[in-house]
Amino acid sequence: MIKSPRAVANNITLMLNQVLGANRFDRGPVNVEQLALEYTRSISPDSYIERVEGYDLAGFEGALVPGETLPRRWGIMFDKKQNPGRRAYTIGHELGHFMLHRHLVDDEPDFNGGFHCSKEAVELGVGRDIEKEANEFAANLLMPFDDFRRTIPSDELADLQRISDAATRYGVSLTAAALRWLDYTNTRAILISSNDGFAKWAKPSAAALKSGRYIRTKAETFEMPSQSLAVSDVQAEEALAGVRQHAGVWFPEPVVEMCMKTDKYGFELTLLHFEGRAPAYQAEDDELGDTYTRFFEAN
Ligand SMILES: [Zn+2]
Repeated sequence: MIKSPRAVANNITLMLNQVLGANRFDRGPVNVEQLALEYTRSISPDSYIERVEGYDLAGFEGALVPGETLPRRWGIMFDKKQNPGRRAYTIGHELGHFMLHRHLVDDEPDFNGGFHCSKEAVELGVGRDIEKEANEFAANLLMPFDDFRRTIPSDELADLQRISDAATRYGVSLTAAALRWLDYTNTRAILISSNDGFAKWAKPSAAALKSGRYIRTKAETFEMPSQSLAVSDVQAEEALAGVRQHAGVWFPEPVVEMCMKTDKYGFELTLLHFEGRAPAYQAEDDELGDTYTRFFEAN
């Protein structure tokens, strides 16, 4: 039987709610390193994750690697240059490979050496299906929908400050929290990651996509509009607070644009808000999950 990443993560969520209380996120994010070590040992006493360690990894973000001896013991490696938020998401992703895919190491020659995951695989689930699945597992484990919906209700637009507060609550990066919010919100919004004036990727909420508001970034190069905050001289503080852009700058309707500009990470994160529902739309989670998958495949 194929295990759904979401169902496997939700089982752990229910266990954590029971042990730590449903309000556990008020006290802090999931301690994913401790969870990887203790939970895998409790469900698989002969073959569990025995170490989680940081290394100088070149070219990939994290890995789940098997030991030589049988029954196998496992190790999670993460790039130690990552900040704590990125690290938590990477460890969650590798725990996802353990929970969902570890049998492949013995079944498929391709996976002899374990799982080595790029930044795009961990952040966006780009690559083989197993990368999407591990990404989905990590998102569900670290940011359960029911808690996120209590933090930011489905029908409320959230600015970057509010999403940043959620990122702190879940111990993840701003990008990860924003992508997760886009997965369930019924509002119309688009998140764009750009670098040197060009979009690297862009993700719309389901409601935005349904109303024809999306940006293609893979088949064609998308240059950020000259009036966009990402490429203009606006101060970081003002860009974060947001400005109203008139119709024609981004789309044939006005948008509220916010941008987190940072030299430290070498990219800008832009969030566009559209007014109104247009059309009235109530999304189901599963449908949103599919939209997310299709979106990154289509782009
Ligand atoms: Zn992976």
